[in-house]
Amino acid sequence: MTIRGYCLCKKTTWAYEGDATWGCYCHCDDCRRNCAAPVVAWLGVPLKNFRWTGAAPKTLESSKGVFRHFCAHCGSPMGFEADHYKGGMHLYAASLEDPTKFEPTFHVNYQSKLPWLAMEDGLPKYDSTLLHAPEDLRSGP
Ligand SMILES: [Zn+2]
Ligand SMILES: [Zn+2]
Repeated sequence: MTIRGYCLCKKTTWAYEGDATWGCYCHCDDCRRNCAAPVVAWLGVPLKNFRWTGAAPKTLESSKGVFRHFCAHCGSPMGFEADHYKGGMHLYAASLEDPTKFEPTFHVNYQSKLPWLAMEDGLPKYDSTLLHAPEDLRSGP
């Protein structure tokens, strides 16, 4: 089964085969500012199952070894790769063709959650400085 996603202007698109490895919310300040959103919902897919299918995204190395992909035309954040997560592509759940299908199962960097954001969902909440998916959670809880 092919899952697809796209940016605001629909020029930059992606697809992956199979299942996402994990889905979570990240409350870190970098993700928040990158998306200008109070929290960012992520899913992880194996890089070997992933491909860009439209215009090539631009890439910003936002900190050493951390690469954030975005649409070259409309600027929408589109993906995340990092040297410390080799072989994985992190995608924004809100970019999914059908974002209602996303199933987050945990929060990371919860210590940075904005005080006015209510997230009473009963999911595990980790105070982690690891971006997005602590190694021991990547195969799923
Ligand atoms: Zn775009
Ligand atoms: Zn983050």
